[in-house]
Amino acid sequence: MTHRSLTLSSLDQATLVMPEDFERPPTETVLLVEDEPRLLRSLQALLQHQGLALTAASSGMEAIEQLRQSRFDLVILDLGLPDIGGQEIMEFMNLHQMGAHVIVTSGAPEVESVIGALKRGAYDYLRKPYASEELLKTIDKALQHRRLQAENRKIASQLESSERVYRNLVDCSPDIIYTLDDSGCFTFINNRARELLGFTREDLLGKHYSELIHDEDMERANYVFGEAKYDRRLTRSVELRFKSINPDNAPRTFSNELLRTPTPPANGLAPDADASAKMFGIYGVARDITDNRQADELISHQTYHDILTDLPNRVLFKDRLSLAMFQARRNESKLAVMFIDLDRFKLVNESLGHRMGDELLQQTALRLKTCLRRCDTLARFGDDEFTAILPELTSRQDATLIADKFLECMKPAFELAGHAIHMTASIGIAFYPDNGTEIDALIRSSGIAMYQIKAAGKNGHAFFDDSMLDASRKNIELEHRLHLAQDQGELEMHYQPQLDVTTGKIIGAEALMRWNHPERGLLSAGEFLPLAEDNGLIIPISDWMLEAICRDLLAWNATGCEGIRLSLNLSPQYLDRGDFYDKLQSALSRHNISPTQVEVEVTENICIRNPQAAIKQLDKLCQLGVSVAIDDFGTGYSSLSYLHRFPIHTLKIDRSFIMEIHDESAQFPVVLAIISIAKGLGLNLVAEGVETPIQAAYLEKSGCRIMQGYLYHKPMPQSRMLVLLTEQAGLA
Ligand code: C2E
Ligand code: CA
Ligand code: CA
Repeated sequence: MTHRSLTLSSLDQATLVMPEDFERPPTETVLLVEDEPRLLRSLQALLQHQGLALTAASSGMEAIEQLRQSRFDLVILDLGLPDIGGQEIMEFMNLHQMGAHVIVTSGAPEVESVIGALKRGAYDYLRKPYASEELLKTIDKALQHRRLQAENRKIASQLESSERVYRNLVDCSPDIIYTLDDSGCFTFINNRARELLGFTREDLLGKHYSELIHDEDMERANYVFGEAKYDRRLTRSVELRFKSINPDNAPRTFSNELLRTPTPPANGLAPDADASAKMFGIYGVARDITDNRQADELISHQTYHDILTDLPNRVLFKDRLSLAMFQARRNESKLAVMFIDLDRFKLVNESLGHRMGDELLQQTALRLKTCLRRCDTLARFGDDEFTAILPELTSRQDATLIADKFLECMKPAFELAGHAIHMTASIGIAFYPDNGTEIDALIRSSGIAMYQIKAAGKNGHAFFDDSMLDASRKNIELEHRLHLAQDQGELEMHYQPQLDVTTGKIIGAEALMRWNHPERGLLSAGEFLPLAEDNGLIIPISDWMLEAICRDLLAWNATGCEGIRLSLNLSPQYLDRGDFYDKLQSALSRHNISPTQVEVEVTENICIRNPQAAIKQLDKLCQLGVSVAIDDFGTGYSSLSYLHRFPIHTLKIDRSFIMEIHDESAQFPVVLAIISIAKGLGLNLVAEGVETPIQAAYLEKSGCRIMQGYLYHKPMPQSRMLVLLTEQAGLA
């Protein structure tokens, strides 16, 4: 099979020197299919100088072969071939999607076949015989058409790829990009909305922006979007929360940059000038700033809140107080500030450990919070100090109600890792503007009132009044002097005898500390020991006491009065330190005193707070021979179940129960109950604070023999005690 190909341009290439970077137009290839040799030759001659690459085929088979081998832009196809019909050739081309333009030529009788060829996609048809110009024109038209098609395809694909690039850019943007039309409906939104919020494009397109905006931000959204509608040049930033349908359902916060722009119509065509004037909308870029906001909020929360209890801290408290004071001034109303301090918190913290202390503070915060109204503020002011602002609180009565609520809520035992802890609080109350018109002054007043109630026995509330200023100044002074008192020998031990009323004999005495204050005279223990408990001085003071009582006890024995028992009051802090046992033992053996002559008084609360540790310590004391008394029995929180597990020997009936006895013939059930408990458990009984013969008679009649109180003796200095003991020894 001959293959004649004439490439005119290849000849040109030889003669023309083209610059390297000149892009040559590809030479268009033409297949001439003609079985008549003369006609084929004249065709070739005619087209020789047209800049085309020509290939000739003189039969249908040859044409098919050529088509198989090469790609052609144009086929000039004679329909009247002897071997294969022109239509079949076209079918072959279609089947193989050759896409060449086909100009069919035919003689008159082949009309059917021409129609068939055109139906199969032939571009044009020339009837033989045709003029050369007609052929050239038709070829030119076909190639032109083809070039145009190619150009169009190229542009379309370029468009498509640039559209792809842009869409990619938009969809891969970390931000949500959207457009709204003038009625506020989405005309475009990128894929990001789906990842961040769960909404697909279809969910939102055509929908109003209110579908997306969080309800609480709707007003703001309406305002900015509405504003954007009327201001053509508008650019604006606004922070809005968008709803989310993602599993967590939590709204996310976006900073929106809005730009008012002409928006293209949804069909993607350029708007005509007229339409574009009306076609304004909003172009928005929304950046997700949820995490930043949350971090900001956390930081600002932590700046103004106490980490342990999550209550407002001192800074926020003062801030709120200043606001509340401002409002009270404007409304000419009053407000109350409460200062709530836990009683003996340090003790729990030190004995049970700081983790438990923290837990206790958390539980306390929760309880206190339940007592407040919405408009009140509860804050953690310091270690174990809470403060509250109670706006619109006018009367002492109202404040008392709330303070009582606070105290009441503290009553049930706190459960801390299996320990039942009882905790009380002291509350000071000050009013604005009566007790201070400045923030710090008002807080100070409430604090002073709190100290007042602390000194008066804790677990209660007190209102500030100006006389307290003096008292608190005195307290500060007192604290200072107390530091020096011990070194300067101002402390003394006094003794209050305990009598067996059936014999009238002194069988023991309670050691009570006194402070011989250089200016204020003799201060009783109640006047300065609470201060020492609070500031830790109680420890060195107790050390001193141990030495003092041992010396005094030796002197008692020297009077010849045998076996007088000395009761000492044990500070809970001192017991908690754990070395009390060693200290007592060493003091006793150094002074050669029998442990059986000593009794230790502890309050019920010490046993309840940390029973295991307390039992251990007291057990050791018992083994040594020291006896243990429960002081102020009946006033604490002890439960009977504890009592018999404790190694105790004596119950001291508290003075408050004795005080009630004013009529010998009446019944005083609490006193009777305590007496029968002591009998039931085989314990000694001491009634303390006995002041009247009626009380003494009632107690004796009810089965209590040992008494201590002003009726018999007030606490007295050692010298007087020695006189009494010497007398008793002489009588014996
Ligand atoms: P307490 O152990 O209940 O002591 C009894 C208190 O009642 C003593 O007050 C005593 O003077 C007082 N009192 C005794 N009989 C009567 C009476 O008939 N009528 C009245 N109105 N009062 C009476 P004081 O000495 O002020 O002691 C107060 C508390 O201080 C004591 O209460 C005790 O818990 C503590 N305390 C006293 N001395 C010491 C001490 O040396 N060490 C420690 N840790 N605490 C002590
Ligand atoms: Ca006592
Ligand atoms: Ca007592």
